[in-house]
Amino acid sequence: MEFTKIDGLKISAEVKAEVKEEVGRLAEIGVVPCLAVVLVGDDPASKIYVANKQKACEAVGIKSLSYILPEDTEQDELDELIESLNESGEVNGILVQLPLPKHLDEDRVIKLISPKKDVDCFHPYNVGRLWTGDPFFLPCTPAGVIELIKRSGFEIEGKDCVVIGRSNIVGKPVSALLQAENGTVTMCHSKTKNLGEICKRADIIVVATGHPNTLTADMVKNGAVVIDVGINRKPDGKLCGDADYENISKKGVAMTPVPGGVGPMTIAMLMKNCVKAVSGE
Ligand code: NAD
Repeated sequence: MEFTKIDGLKISAEVKAEVKEEVGRLAEIGVVPCLAVVLVGDDPASKIYVANKQKACEAVGIKSLSYILPEDTEQDELDELIESLNESGEVNGILVQLPLPKHLDEDRVIKLISPKKDVDCFHPYNVGRLWTGDPFFLPCTPAGVIELIKRSGFEIEGKDCVVIGRSNIVGKPVSALLQAENGTVTMCHSKTKNLGEICKRADIIVVATGHPNTLTADMVKNGAVVIDVGINRKPDGKLCGDADYENISKKGVAMTPVPGGVGPMTIAMLMKNCVKAVSGE
C-alpha cells in the first residue's frame, strides 16, 4: 500500500455537515441545542480550545453560552454554577474545560455535572455505560479516532489493535471503543515491556502518550493504520504528535498528521454529543 494521509480536517467537516443538518431538523420543531462552556483561569491553550469549540457551535447552529471565571474562583462558586446549569431548562450540554487551576477538584467537578448533560462523557455513569456496551454519549476524542478509521475505509473487526497510553480521557475509552468494534486490543503504557515488538504486530495503532517520537518507523509494519492523538509543542513553537510522522510516512501506512488529524475530530464529535443531549432518552 502507498502512504495515505488520513485527513481529519476533511472527515471532521463531513461530520459537522451531518450535525448541521440534524440541527436544521431540530430548528424546524423550534429546538435549538445549547452548550454551556465553563473556563476557569487564563491557561492560553484552554482559551484556544474553548474559542474553537464555540466557533464550531456557531458553524453548525448550536447556541453556546460561555462562563469565564477568574483563576482564584472558589470551589463553592464553581459548584454553584454547575448546579445551576444542571437545572437550567435551556442548557443541554455542559463542558468544563480541563485542566482546572490546582486548587480546584477536577474529579468532584466531573461527578457534579448531570450525566444527561455530560457531553465530554467523563462522568463515571457514562464511562460505566461505555464499558458495559450501552453508551449514551461517546467520549469525543476516542469517538473521533474510531470515525477516522472507519470513514477512511479501514475495518476494525478482527484486527490487532494496539493503544499506547491508558488515560481516562484517551487510552482507556479508545480501547473500549475498539473492542466494541470487535478489534483485538492490547493496551500499552509506560511500564509495558517490548513496546516495539507489540506494535510491530499491530494492524491499527493509536498513540496517546504526550511524548513526541513514542512511536517510531521501526515499530510500524507496512499496511498499518496509525492514529496519532498527541499534541506537543516543539522548541520552534510548531505542533507535533506522539509519532514520528516524518519517517513513518515514508512507509506504506495510513496515518493522521498533527495538526489536522484527531484534533478537529474531537470538536466535531462534541457537536454530535450536543445534539444527542437534546434527544435525552
Ligand atoms: P496522560 O498523560 O494522561 O496519559 C499518558 C499515558 O501514556 C499514560 O497512560 C502513560 O502510561 C502512557 N505513556 C507515557 N509515556 C509512555 C511511553 N514512553 N510508552 C508507553 N506509554 C507511555 O495523557 P492524555 O491525556 O491521554 O493525552 C495524551 C496526548 O494526547 C497528549 O499529547 C494530549 O495533549 C493529547 N490529547 C489530544 C486530544 C485531541 O483532541 N487531539 C485530546 C486529549 C489529549
